[in-house]
Amino acid sequence: IMSKEDKYTAETITEITTWAPNLFSFKLTRYPGYRFIPGQFSRLGIRKEDGTIVWRAYSIVSASYDEFLEYFSIVVPDGEFTSRLSKLEVGDEVLVEKMNYGFLTTARFEEGKDLWMLATGTGLAPFISILYELETWDAYENIILVYSVREANELAYIEAIEGLKNHEYFGDFAHKFKFLPVVTREKFPGALEKRIPILLENGELEQELGLSLDPERSRIMICGNPEMVDDTRGWFTEHGYTVSRRSKPGHLALENLW
Ligand code: NAP
Repeated sequence: IMSKEDKYTAETITEITTWAPNLFSFKLTRYPGYRFIPGQFSRLGIRKEDGTIVWRAYSIVSASYDEFLEYFSIVVPDGEFTSRLSKLEVGDEVLVEKMNYGFLTTARFEEGKDLWMLATGTGLAPFISILYELETWDAYENIILVYSVREANELAYIEAIEGLKNHEYFGDFAHKFKFLPVVTREKFPGALEKRIPILLENGELEQELGLSLDPERSRIMICGNPEMVDDTRGWFTEHGYTVSRRSKPGHLALENLW
């Protein structure tokens, strides 16, 4: 159903997955004309009791070819948007602006050999969409995903990530993929414990992955907690990496989640 303004469509929630008490994903119907590049975000709207609409940006989790749109959210206590969103059910309406946005896309880079995706929390979302794109696997020799959460039960999408190895389209590229979970507030087998900028600084990240960072080869995407994005960008810019601009491609693409 098209709105009067033609700026957004009214979509329907078709599925909700709860990962942890304050962490959930949801799927929406997708307007057939809705186009996006993996890594981009949508603006989602919820109608308030007084009829006004509250809008928030949400990175798209789903693949560009999926018939649905999927998003990954935390519940911000007393948050104007997420506290409403978290009460919605299958069948309820969410508005989706027809434009989509964002430059956390591989098109942002001049060619590189290794794609490093560094996420905290729901900052994982755009990377799932990017990982589900065949072009990503074609374009890079190594694809690295580092995913930092406070507690292990917040490691959402683990099955999808690990399932890429046996995926019918992407399984052939399994040798290119390196996944490293980071759990900062408890011990978890197979995960590192320190924050991403510390793991960069002390060399643990490269050592654990068995791959060196190198501005010639490495293209880095960072998404999540704004302080993490800042601190991580700081490490990279001190080591010779530049942020990609529309007019001047570089090594880094960044997105703050809030
Ligand atoms: P988070 O605090 O972002 O933590 C997720 C991961 O990021 C943890 O491993 C954490 O490590 C790490 N991290 C935090 N700060 C970092 C930094 N400066 N450098 C490197 N790593 C860092 O947790 P979250 O559960 O995803 O979100 C938590 C808070 O964000 C909530 O209180 C929520 O209100 C707020 N939030 C707000 C919005 C919004 O729209 N307003 C949206 C999302 C989240 P540590 O365990 O060491 O901290």
